Amino acid sequence: MHELSLMENMVEAVEQRIFGQRVALVRLEIGTLAGVATDALRFAFEVCTQKTVLEGATLDIVEIHARARCRACDLEEPVAGFAAPCVCGCFDRELVCGDEIRIKEIEVA
Ligand SMILES: [Zn+2]
Repeated sequence: MHELSLMENMVEAVEQRIFGQRVALVRLEIGTLAGVATDALRFAFEVCTQKTVLEGATLDIVEIHARARCRACDLEEPVAGFAAPCVCGCFDRELVCGDEIRIKEIEVA
């Protein structure tokens, strides 16, 4: 499972940043096009935080809705996927946000 290895890396990163302290809350920003399932992330968090300073911490997932900007007409709008064209018919759009997987905030207990 992709989310499991992702969460392993995140737990390691958190442990390195707050060495020795206990974590009360971890807030993640996950884009809707990041390719990860938040349910799976929550499960992975439970598994990966066992016997770590993150054990029992709250996992808060903030979903970032993807937005894309059209390279032809410059229109920026929310998108549900990569495949949909702009209203002008152009498929050449760049993602403005929505593919992020990052730790936004850590609260220590
Ligand atoms: Zn357009």
